[in-house]
Amino acid sequence: MKPLIVANWKMNPQTLADTKKLFNSVKKRIKDTKKAEVVICAPFVFLPILKVKGAQDCFWEEKGAYTGEISTKMLKDLGIEYVIIGHSERRKYQKETDEMINKKIKAAIVEGLKPILCIDKISQLERDLKGVSLKEFRNLIIAYEPLFAIGSGQPCPPEKAERMRILIQKKLKKRIRIVYGGSVNSQNAKEYIEKAGFQGLLPGGASLKAKEFIKIIKNVSRS
Ligand code: PEP
Repeated sequence: MKPLIVANWKMNPQTLADTKKLFNSVKKRIKDTKKAEVVICAPFVFLPILKVKGAQDCFWEEKGAYTGEISTKMLKDLGIEYVIIGHSERRKYQKETDEMINKKIKAAIVEGLKPILCIDKISQLERDLKGVSLKEFRNLIIAYEPLFAIGSGQPCPPEKAERMRILIQKKLKKRIRIVYGGSVNSQNAKEYIEKAGFQGLLPGGASLKAKEFIKIIKNVSRS
């Protein structure tokens, strides 16, 4: 299976003009990339303009009086395929609990989206996936994102990340895609795929620099 490279732009870029510039320079260079699947998770406001495949969050209710929220149906209608759920920044700043994350995962699955569940600890798996059947795991992606490595410039040593990948795989009792995120750059990207056995990557900061992001894609595409 091709490595899955998920760009998490977070709350960036700041203007539509800068967003288009970043998007176009990435798009131009990855046009012929066939050896990796690239998903850009842009802020909600840019999704219909860029027509990317990824979003950074969703809400669990279908519709109604939930000011500021975005439903999975709205995302699906825009052509979104993947949605990041349970990112550590949302757990921290929006105080998202495992119960809320669990409801979001279920709502995404019902709508036929592929949830990218971010976890830092193995214990989160059980709570975040409570009531999700093995059959429904088919479209699920787990992102192992150790807290200390996110945005810190201190990536997790690949051997340590590999141990966690194996634990996640054992716990879920089914082969599903597991990606690594946490200070990924063009120098370390390949190690997580080739040495640590991850099926993809989730770069944050590095995905905002077109040249660096392209290098990450090229480096893992060759493997
Ligand atoms: C992230 O956004 O999930 C992330 C891992 O960020 P960074 O690559 O900047 O550490």
